[in-house]
Amino acid sequence: MSFPSLRIEANRLSAEGSFAESQAHFLSPDPTVIAELDALLKAQNVGVVAHFYMDAELQGVLSACSHPHIFVADSLLMADHAVQMAEAGVSAIVVLGVDFMSENVRAVLDASGHSTIPVYRVDEREIGCSLAEAAESRLYQAWLQQCAEIEQALHVVYINTSLRSKAVAHQYLPTITCTSSNVLQTLLQVSAENPSVQICYGPDTYMGRNLEVMLRQITEMTDDQIAEIHPQHNRDSIARLLSQYRYFQQGNCVVHHMFGGSVVNTVATEYAEAYHTAHLEVPGEMFELAVKAQREGRGVVGSTSNILQFILGKVDEAQEVSEATVIPVVLGTEAGMVTAIVRKVQAKLQASGREDIAVEIIFPVAADAVAQDETFGVIPGVAGGEGCSTAGGCATCPYMKMNTLDALIEVVAKSDRPDALVAFEPEKYAEKLDGRTVAEVGGEPILFMRHFQRHGVMDPSLLALI
Ligand code: SF4
Repeated sequence: MSFPSLRIEANRLSAEGSFAESQAHFLSPDPTVIAELDALLKAQNVGVVAHFYMDAELQGVLSACSHPHIFVADSLLMADHAVQMAEAGVSAIVVLGVDFMSENVRAVLDASGHSTIPVYRVDEREIGCSLAEAAESRLYQAWLQQCAEIEQALHVVYINTSLRSKAVAHQYLPTITCTSSNVLQTLLQVSAENPSVQICYGPDTYMGRNLEVMLRQITEMTDDQIAEIHPQHNRDSIARLLSQYRYFQQGNCVVHHMFGGSVVNTVATEYAEAYHTAHLEVPGEMFELAVKAQREGRGVVGSTSNILQFILGKVDEAQEVSEATVIPVVLGTEAGMVTAIVRKVQAKLQASGREDIAVEIIFPVAADAVAQDETFGVIPGVAGGEGCSTAGGCATCPYMKMNTLDALIEVVAKSDRPDALVAFEPEKYAEKLDGRTVAEVGGEPILFMRHFQRHGVMDPSLLALI
């Protein structure tokens, strides 16, 4: 087989290929390192919220710690858990992710009455994101201006953007933030509450196109099937929504961009029998493959959490029968996800004592997927036999990998001296836009999303702006 893979059993990991070997190695971290970080986090009373895309070494150590205030999740849940940690009385919260994630955590903590709890990143430098950069481009501003001229327009902005981008956009036209977990339901809900709404989605072009494909597919379902996806919709209303939907055409994630043509061909031919998963950010070919698989019950498209739940569901199904089973899964997202998958799958298999079930995670890697970047040198798909390494290749995000274990330990050690960590705080965005700070204006689209998340309906004050 062409791609590296990691076989997960109740008490064993076996790797095929150097990339998978290094992932497996980090899943059994050094006990002295675990003890050091665990003791430090407890002594300093610091909480950690980390994204699934942290590298395997860092996630391996985090998941082995016993400190109760550590949470690894997608960007939507990171902020929720930060609030819970603040309510439980932590002294500070360290965010392991990219800058829009720490900004999001800061904004949500502030809105929840926890503005005195410090939030820290682990690098003094900007921790960017190619999508966040796309939203800051002149092209995006020009596109937003065009959108603002459309009657009843709403900008649905992916959370992977800076607070400043959200604020600037919200000045042009009403804006709500979304994540890959809730974007489809956001579009469906807002159009159910305001059938005339014109939606402008950005900046992720692949996700924008994938959403269009999904909406088109929904128009081919029966009204009853559509009602199961959203009770206030039918074929006509989805067709109307589709005609009122547009997306930005020039933004993509450097990591998910790697799931291109040659990778997809190999997945389709050599791994046709495997379950296919794809994050909403992946390019169309990989997405379409996973959508087809999803329709046939052999895959899933969605967020990192959706992918994790799908795999755990397959483990549950395998546990219902007595035969030995291998569950092959092509992982169509950032490889850092594998740590959470290993931990959860092993916990299930250990609880049931089933040593005859295995999940085989396949990392789809383009052998020639090498790119140069001024800051990082070689980025996704670094030459390493299989076209990848944990140093920044193979569907690993170079920005996420700026979060290191050493840097985390250093920040936690200094967390009782806030003066020493000023450069590690998320940007404050204190400058004003029409009399309000950028932080306030940019936080509003996030709060609109949180309203929808909590109540299942749009915030009336957002609807009033459209
Ligand atoms: S994987 Fe990295 S570049 Fe891609 S959207 Fe996430 S943070 Fe941005």
